[in-house]
Amino acid sequence: MHLTAIYPGTFDPITHGHADIVRRASQLFGRIVVAVAESPQKEPSFSLEERVSLARAALSDLGNVEVLGFGNLLASFAREQGAAVILRGLRAISDFEHEFQLAAMNRQLAPEVETMFLTPAEEYSFVSSSLVREIARLGGDVSNFVSPAAVRALTERYADS
Ligand code: ADP
Repeated sequence: MHLTAIYPGTFDPITHGHADIVRRASQLFGRIVVAVAESPQKEPSFSLEERVSLARAALSDLGNVEVLGFGNLLASFAREQGAAVILRGLRAISDFEHEFQLAAMNRQLAPEVETMFLTPAEEYSFVSSSLVREIARLGGDVSNFVSPAAVRALTERYADS
């Protein structure tokens, strides 16, 4: 219960699936750092500041959760934060190959940090930020998948497309 877990991702934007993972982890670990990656190579739809602030709004009821942006190597940021665990979410077998490769690479870079996986409630197992963005862009209702603040941000973002 005293351990720090770091949950890295792009969170473009944070969804109920991500939040479900954080909620579960917040009962298992003393401190959770939701680490929002700058990820310029992914050309996120929202700026780092917007993604951090949407994640903060979605997780504000959880006392042991902090949301921080980072732009350096995850293994280095995990060390800076004193994290014992890197947390990732697994939705389906399709996530597995990429996650397995990342976990192995992070173990090479930071052998003292364990990667652990949690699965979300079934109703979130098909939710992804990219699908949510696509639905919002095409004018669909995403209020079942993201927080009200993220619905507003998505609506504004795609207002004139
Ligand atoms: P990344 O660009 O690092 O994959 P994401 O924000 O897409 O960042 O995802 C961060 C983590 O959350 C990943 O481990 C991903 O598999 C997981 N994740 C994404 N969506 C969900 C969801 N609906 N339920 C559970 N885990 C999820």
